Amino acid sequence: MSGSTGSIQTGKDPADLVYTDPLTGLGNQRRFVDKVERLKADRAEDPAPFTIGIIDLDGFKPINDLFGRRAGDHILMQVGMRLRAAMDQHSTVTRLGADEFAFLLPMTFSEQAAETQAQMLIEILSAPYDVGDRTARLSASVGCALYYGDQTAEDLISKAETALYHAKRSGRGKVVVYTHQMEEAAKRVTRIEQALRRAVAAGEVEPYFQPIVDLRTRETIGFETLARWTDDDLGVVPPSVFIPIAEERGIIGPLSQLVLRKATTAASSWPEQLFLSFNLSPSQLVDQNTGLHIRSILAETGFDSHRLEIEITETGMMTDPISAEKIVDDLRGVGIRISLDDFGTGQSSLGRLRDFHFDKLKIDRAFVASILEDRPSQHIIRAILAMCDGLGMEVVAEGIEEEAQVAKLLQFGCGGGQGYLFGRPVDEAATREYLRSSAVAAPRAHAG
Ligand code: C2E
Ligand code: MG
Ligand code: MG
Repeated sequence: MSGSTGSIQTGKDPADLVYTDPLTGLGNQRRFVDKVERLKADRAEDPAPFTIGIIDLDGFKPINDLFGRRAGDHILMQVGMRLRAAMDQHSTVTRLGADEFAFLLPMTFSEQAAETQAQMLIEILSAPYDVGDRTARLSASVGCALYYGDQTAEDLISKAETALYHAKRSGRGKVVVYTHQMEEAAKRVTRIEQALRRAVAAGEVEPYFQPIVDLRTRETIGFETLARWTDDDLGVVPPSVFIPIAEERGIIGPLSQLVLRKATTAASSWPEQLFLSFNLSPSQLVDQNTGLHIRSILAETGFDSHRLEIEITETGMMTDPISAEKIVDDLRGVGIRISLDDFGTGQSSLGRLRDFHFDKLKIDRAFVASILEDRPSQHIIRAILAMCDGLGMEVVAEGIEEEAQVAKLLQFGCGGGQGYLFGRPVDEAATREYLRSSAVAAPRAHAG
């Protein structure tokens, strides 16, 4: 396939091929491990540390899809050449596979220096690439680890991988140097993941419900479902911790189905004019089974799809807009309404609001929290309200904790509200109690 580039290795010894990446002519993973082992042996008497790093190209797959595999291979060769040219006589760069490369810097002795070097590599890789008569741009993330004379090559590489994972998570084009706290954090995440898998299988994640009210009449118009989980050993784990872990480790689908099944079962006994709102994660808007799962749960619990609202965030819309749109259209087709959650804090794109119709928009708590003293927040809220009015979208302000905030929101013309002032999220039994003692909006003449 790419036999011609194999000849870069001067053809001395066929055994060399075992250590060579045929596409770029660089060493491969085996060569890398071998080099690290040898340097470790050299440093047995010399206490100086050294640095390794793993580079992962950001967004290489879309480039492959867009320009084709051959162009992708060509870019990888250019990446290889640039990296090789950037190494000094002591240093080595190899290709680990796909779009991952690794380097070994024997003369880089400190975390600071490692970061500087890696940053330089990122800059070198971010210059445009020739693809026929077009150009492509890439960025790269790097994870580094330093050897201090106390670990195996495997451990060292796995530390660089942990650092790379943190770099990837914090956005494109970042360098992260491994620290001990990272390992502790990684262990904790794994513990939570395992406990969560068990809890989901045992049906132990519960829906809580928080009222959403009509600010003018103070009547309850619906509830937002919020997942709650208490583990015997870990105690109460907040959703801000377990939801991201569920997303990352592929548990969000089953977790979400469990919570939706329980929530729609509970809500079936509420007055029928009340809606139930349910959050979907960005990763669920990439999974084409999501719509099917939701519809079959509704069929199973008998909950009217016209009473269900799905909350999605801007990030959810951005990850894969085409896929998200398909899922949303599918849901809307059976009468489910769609609201845009946490508006104003993500990568707000007004273009998205034009292309895409939402039934409702939820103003993020951050704006409501500062509505009383902060003029910019007031202006932003008023602008959002005017825009929603024009686009025919309902609005709910999140995180209302004080009467004075309600007064301001009413003055600006905001119709819906949610927050501790009206009620905290509570379990099914407490929700029934709440419904007995508080005003609920009158049944609607059949809306659609
Ligand atoms: P969210 O969808 O924006 O939910 C609103 C969050 O604000 C909830 O936090 C709620 O308890 C909190 N909140 C409501 N009123 C107030 C208030 O007056 N003051 C303050 N300080 N906070 C208030 P919670 O329950 O911790 O959930 C956090 C996030 O976790 C949610 O944000 C949502 O993004 C996610 N989440 C929760 N349950 C689920 C779920 O079942 N599926 C998915 N995909 N995500 C969920
Ligand atoms: Mg929400
Ligand atoms: Mg929200």
